[in-house]
Amino acid sequence: MLVDKTVEAIIETQNLLLSHNLVDPKTIDNNIHAVVIGSGIAGLLAARVLTNHFAKVTIIERDYLSSQSEPRRGVPQSQQPHLLLTRGQIILEQLFPGIKDELATHEATLIDWTADFKWLLPGGWNPGFSSGITSRTCTRNLLETVIRQRLFSNKKVEFLEGTTVINLLTDTTQSFVKGVCLRDSKGVEVNLNTQLVVDASGRKSHAIKWLKNLGYEVPQETKINSFLGYASRLYQVSDDSYLDYKALYIMPKAPTNPRGAVLYRVESNRFLVNLIGVGRDYPPTDEDGFLNFAQSLRSPQIYEAIKNALPLSPINGYQGTDNCWRHYERLPKFLENFIVLGDAVCAFNPVYAQGMTVAALGALTLDECLKKHKRFSGNGNISLGLSRRFQKQLAKVNAEPWLASTGYDLRWPKTEGGKASFVTRLMQRYMDQIMIVAVKNAFVYKLLIEVIHLLKPPTVFFQPAILTQVLKLQVQRLYCRS
Ligand SMILES: Cc1cc2nc3c(=O)[nH]c(=O)nc-3n(C[C@H](O)[C@H](O)[C@H](O)COP(=O)(O)OP(=O)(O)OC[C@H]3O[C@@H](n4cnc5c(N)ncnc54)[C@H](O)[C@@H]3O)c2cc1C
Repeated sequence: MLVDKTVEAIIETQNLLLSHNLVDPKTIDNNIHAVVIGSGIAGLLAARVLTNHFAKVTIIERDYLSSQSEPRRGVPQSQQPHLLLTRGQIILEQLFPGIKDELATHEATLIDWTADFKWLLPGGWNPGFSSGITSRTCTRNLLETVIRQRLFSNKKVEFLEGTTVINLLTDTTQSFVKGVCLRDSKGVEVNLNTQLVVDASGRKSHAIKWLKNLGYEVPQETKINSFLGYASRLYQVSDDSYLDYKALYIMPKAPTNPRGAVLYRVESNRFLVNLIGVGRDYPPTDEDGFLNFAQSLRSPQIYEAIKNALPLSPINGYQGTDNCWRHYERLPKFLENFIVLGDAVCAFNPVYAQGMTVAALGALTLDECLKKHKRFSGNGNISLGLSRRFQKQLAKVNAEPWLASTGYDLRWPKTEGGKASFVTRLMQRYMDQIMIVAVKNAFVYKLLIEVIHLLKPPTVFFQPAILTQVLKLQVQRLYCRS
């Protein structure tokens, strides 16, 4: 199903007028149709907010999409653990009211992140208490399917499946995007006109190549790679009465112990186990190697949980985990009405579980930018400068999660792509103290969880009550040494 013919005709006429400078782009009534490239989490959430502003939203996805929750080729990471942070869950509920309950009906597990989550920090196990900081854990496939189903039933949204975007279409001056060139599954190329193109095609986005071909500057790229690898497997929960947690994390301990693991409950009475190795200490994907690696961790809990458990999947490895930021926000000139978001702009080391929540924040940023543009242009249309302003706003959203993710990765001696600055080293030392205090102090631990779940900014660690705790710890240590 393609966009309806009347909509196509209106867009074509408008683009013709635009390309011949016969009309002021600010006054043309052009909030008709938007295209989103990619139906990953970023694309789906962007499409949802675009329905607030456009009559029609087309999501173009190279994969065929199933109504069942199952892996697909376009997102090879979907076999790996995908924890949705509490902030992400809050935004999801805001965009799709009732989705939390829907996840519950699919048996996604409710986790109170201070009560049900056991975490071996560098200084010991976390204190356990209820806080109400919750989200539901499930597989990435289920989460994506539930969101997709919501959009399937939205009359403004259409999906073009098995279709790949191969290029952008612009006006003759190459200043405005006016559509996309598609290739369908039979290899037939089709042009689709539209007013706004959102690229949410993930880490392998072709946006840089497309923009370069149009004569735009290539954005700088910052890559920080700690060479972290995953090996993951699903298990049947048979008798978990011996488990006093719903999720468990044995954190690698920088800079000396690069091994860690995560275990958490997902739908259909299963748990997902994910072994982690930093600095190319990749966890093996063969049976014996996997178990031996689990046995070598700082704590035996995960090995104990899996040694006799029934595996339900092969062991899936994954290694493309670098932090990669393409700085579109720094470009002096940008293609009008073209937006890039999600992993296509900024992808994080997944071990910090930030990607989907940052994608959700990106969607809210797009919504805000479109609202502001409506107010400025007065007539409800998108207008000049939207793309640049959006990319700049998005950079502000990405900045904190980026610092958190790269700040920790730069502790590892084999990390490539940058060195910790003096300020970063100071912050690392301070965070070491926070993590030590958090083991014994529930208030500080709760704050740590809130910051990790992007509910509070890291600046909360500098409030006097926390500084006092850290100072006390320093004094105690000096006292013990003397
Ligand atoms: C191993 C791993 C584990 C992760 N764990 C977590 C986690 O625990 N928590 C968390 O929040 N995040 C996690 N993430 C990050 C998360 O997957 C992403 O940040 C998030 O899903 C946003 O990705 P995206 O939608 O931008 O891109 P993707 O999920 O990569 O989706 C891109 C989509 O675009 C489609 N596509 C690509 N090119 C084209 C084209 N030319 N035409 C049409 N379609 C196209 C692809 O088929 C795909 O469907 C993890 C990532 C990895 C790699």
